[in-house]
Amino acid sequence: MGKYVDLTGKTFGRLTCINMVGRDSQRRALWLCKCACGNETTVVSTSLTGRKTKSCGCLHKDLTRERTTTHSLSIDANGKTPRLYSIWRNMKQRCNNPNAAKFEKYGGRGIKVCEEWMDYMNFHNWAIANGYADGLTLDRKDNNSNYQPSNCRWVSVAQQNLNKSNQRLITFNGETRTILEWSNLLGMKYSTLKCRLDDYGWAIEKAFKTPVRRRSS
Ligand SMILES: [Zn+2]
Repeated sequence: MGKYVDLTGKTFGRLTCINMVGRDSQRRALWLCKCACGNETTVVSTSLTGRKTKSCGCLHKDLTRERTTTHSLSIDANGKTPRLYSIWRNMKQRCNNPNAAKFEKYGGRGIKVCEEWMDYMNFHNWAIANGYADGLTLDRKDNNSNYQPSNCRWVSVAQQNLNKSNQRLITFNGETRTILEWSNLLGMKYSTLKCRLDDYGWAIEKAFKTPVRRRSS
């Protein structure tokens, strides 16, 4: 068959060359390739080495399907933006757009959206698998950490407000900690400390230093 570059066993995208099966009218080598999807296809050598052909055609189909799916998730039958898609878009805005309303409390404090979730499909799939429902909001377990699967969950608005108050910072003797952290340090129940501060309206010093009355048995 004359001289040709041996591409046997070489991989180009999803294609692996099996053997040369002939030449086209311009005397270019034709290679029988096995695609990762299982199909076989014959490709001209220059299309392989020039990285023009990377699959049997399934790659293009997959990419188109992905784009179509993302598009169909970003707009509902009435032409409106679905709630979950808005949540994703707003999350990215807060973290990545310095002009966004709440940027200071998010991106401005170094809060990021993880790489994986920059792709809507990944966020969408995580949301569905982790109990997303209308009425629930996206909550970060650690208020100082990023938007990522390990730090996020879906909670009711009431639950989220409770979490926010748990994260409230109290400064005492020059040290700043959350109420939960203070309660652990003081060896006091969280509920007791919170009650003293919020329900009784005690000053911080009194709330921290008044001994807890133990129930005698
Ligand atoms: Zn294929």
